[in-house]
Amino acid sequence: MDLYSGRINQLIEALSRLPGIGTKTAQRLAFHIINMPVDQARSLAETIVTARETICYCNKCWNLSDSEICPICANEKRDHRTVMVVETVRDLAAYEKTQKYNGVYHVLHGAISPMLGIGPGDIRLKELMVRLQTEDIREVIIATNSTLEGETTAMYISKLIKPSGIKVTRIASGVPVGGDLEYIDEVTLLRALEGRTEL
Ligand code: ZN
Repeated sequence: MDLYSGRINQLIEALSRLPGIGTKTAQRLAFHIINMPVDQARSLAETIVTARETICYCNKCWNLSDSEICPICANEKRDHRTVMVVETVRDLAAYEKTQKYNGVYHVLHGAISPMLGIGPGDIRLKELMVRLQTEDIREVIIATNSTLEGETTAMYISKLIKPSGIKVTRIASGVPVGGDLEYIDEVTLLRALEGRTEL
C-alpha cells in the first residue's frame, strides 16, 4: 500500500535516483520542497534545467564551463605552460581549493581500465595530445589517482608524451594508494604536488 499520493511518490522516487540519496533523505527533501513557497520551488526547478541545458565542457581543458573556454583557461595570469592532468572535474576542484596551483588543467573524464574495458580512446587523451602539439607547454603534471587505473593511465600518458621532450612529472605518493583525490585534505594535496617527480 502506498503511503503517499501519487505525485508525492513521484517526487520521492525522482529524488532518490540522485547519487547518495536514500529513501529517507528523498522523503525529507520531498516534504521540504512541498512546503516551499511555489516561487522558490519553481526557481529551483528552473535552475536545474538551465544548468543542464547551458553548462558544457571547456574546449581546451574539458572542465565544466558555461562558455566555450572556462574561466581558468581564460585567465591570463595563470601559467599556461604547465598543465595538470586529472581524472575528473572534482579532482580539478580539489586542487583549485588549495589556491596554490597556478597552472592550467586537462580533465580526462576517466582513467584507463582494461578490466572495465575503458581504453585510451574512451578518455580525453587525444585532446591532450593535440594541446601538446599546438600549445607551448613545458610541463605536464600527471595527477591521476593512486588507484590501479590511475597508475596505468599515468604510465600510458608518460610513455606517450616522453618522445616529444616535454617534461612529465607525477605527483608524489603522499596521496594514499586507492585514495580518491577528492577526499584528501589540502595539505596532503599540496605536499603531493610539491614532491612531484619527473617520469
Ligand atoms: Zn578550460
